[in-house]
Amino acid sequence: MDFYINKLVIIGVGLIGGSFALALREAGVAREIVGAGRSAANLEEALRLGAIDRIAPDAAEAVRDADLVMLAVPVGQMAALMQQIAPCLGAHTVVTDAGSTKGDVVALARRHLPQHLASFVPGHPIAGAEKSGVGAADAGLFRGRQTVLTPLPETGARATELVLNAWQACGARVAEMAPENHDRIFAAVSHLPHLLAFALVEDMASRANGEELFSFAAGGFRDFTRIAGSSPEMWRDIFLANREPLLDELDLYRAQLDRLRAMLEQGDGAALEKVFSRARAARNKWIAKKNLD
Ligand code: NAD
Repeated sequence: MDFYINKLVIIGVGLIGGSFALALREAGVAREIVGAGRSAANLEEALRLGAIDRIAPDAAEAVRDADLVMLAVPVGQMAALMQQIAPCLGAHTVVTDAGSTKGDVVALARRHLPQHLASFVPGHPIAGAEKSGVGAADAGLFRGRQTVLTPLPETGARATELVLNAWQACGARVAEMAPENHDRIFAAVSHLPHLLAFALVEDMASRANGEELFSFAAGGFRDFTRIAGSSPEMWRDIFLANREPLLDELDLYRAQLDRLRAMLEQGDGAALEKVFSRARAARNKWIAKKNLD
């Protein structure tokens, strides 16, 4: 790697921020890694696990003289964080984020970091887990996975290159797209499935015979609902930030459910089998392609 980060600052040293720190440390491209956050216990653990070298007293203090700042907090926290760090950002400091939604983060950066847009590179690693906190962080989390960057027209080439280099050092492949496109795509393939998983578990749990139902739930239920074990705060923020595209996806899905319901009501086995065959073929094709990538 022909780039080097003298001071890397991670704000929100959880699953994603912690994994980013561990991966860059393992790649040997960061001299000092400084963490800031909201939970003292989590930051102490980050120190113990070697994800960070020291804990900064607060986010504003942390970003002074930084080469790269990673904002890895729930997207609902981005506005407050940007306001805190704005007065302390030096001209050479590049700021990026890992938020799962991009249109909102870009709008917030325009509002709260207007002097710093040339050095702001919004990003979203397409890797993660249903676990939270630095205890779940893993230096290999991003290896072979994609990270999407959504640079603004104002973002400078030097800033984009630094963030691209950092993600590549983590082992990720990097793609670029417009924030609106990103948010539409992830409403369909990520946000909707999370909503469905939360809804199904909530539905079972709220029934009078919930305990009995759960006692018989097995592999299929576990696979379908794995992501309902994810952080409620993080997903609340993602849903609210990407409300319009998610509502559109929800409407499309409800129409699909209605079609299946009608087939079931009419006892139309041939139609059901046709849908399931198409869906199975599409999923198998996707899995085969994923394994080739
Ligand atoms: P996490 O809960 O593991 O970590 C978030 C950390 O941010 C916590 O340590 C928390 O204490 C800290 N924090 C919260 N508010 C803060 C504030 N105001 N100031 C400073 N620190 C604060 O969550 P995560 O899974 O690492 O997610 C972080 C970001 O990455 C989110 O924006 C999420 O949307 C995005 N993301 C998550 C995944 C995933 O699968 N978990 C994948 C891609 C992107």
